[in-house]
Amino acid sequence: MKKLTLATVLLLTTTLVAFAQQSKIIAHRGAWKHTHAPQNSIASLQEAIKQKVWGSEFDVHLTKDDILVVNHDNDFYGLDIATSTYEELLTKKHPNGESIPTAEEYLKEGLKQKNTKLIYELKTNRLGVERTLQAVQQSYDLVKRLKAKDMVEFIAFSYEACLKFRELDKKAKIHYLSSDKAPQEIYNAQLSGIDYHLSVFKKNNDWIKQAKALKLKTNVWTVNSTEDMQFFIDRKIDYITTDEPESLYKLLNP
Ligand code: MG
Repeated sequence: MKKLTLATVLLLTTTLVAFAQQSKIIAHRGAWKHTHAPQNSIASLQEAIKQKVWGSEFDVHLTKDDILVVNHDNDFYGLDIATSTYEELLTKKHPNGESIPTAEEYLKEGLKQKNTKLIYELKTNRLGVERTLQAVQQSYDLVKRLKAKDMVEFIAFSYEACLKFRELDKKAKIHYLSSDKAPQEIYNAQLSGIDYHLSVFKKNNDWIKQAKALKLKTNVWTVNSTEDMQFFIDRKIDYITTDEPESLYKLLNP
């Protein structure tokens, strides 16, 4: 009886450890490809949450009149975000009838649940680093005001933006996207991890190991073929960012 209990405990522990080490799914711009929700819409976030993915990524820009809004491109259906007011952006709609979400609306939707993390990409402002850093400050203030620190992880291509987030908060999760820095440099800057294009990890095939040795988190984008997914699952990368969360789920849960 005692033996059986021990065996059960061991099996359970092994299973839990394996589960903890398994790569986690981040839906890129929400779950949009097979749900037909527009990318970065509230609907795409709701779809990602329905799929119980580990995280749902979205992109945030600052408007001319200092409103943080969620969209991938620099323009929202032809209107340049950095030089348009929020009011002007409201004249355009997503095909599903949604207006451009503010970061506040988006986060509030995400905060209705606790399973799916909100992966907040702060976009580099094309008007210059000052505007980017202002967007960092506003993003941080917003997350703090909404008491969303535990649910939000920041990612950015701008190294200055990452450093500013770290300056504002010693504990925030901040991952660098630009792929031009080795794990040691990210560690020295006290960032939380690297979130690099798949080609970068393939070219520098020891970076995942190096990052893990430094206790940095590892994330790869944007992985859409099952062959590439398997490549990164085999290397035990922490997170896989994908437009195909449904196929990645099937691969991880055969
Ligand atoms: Mg993004």
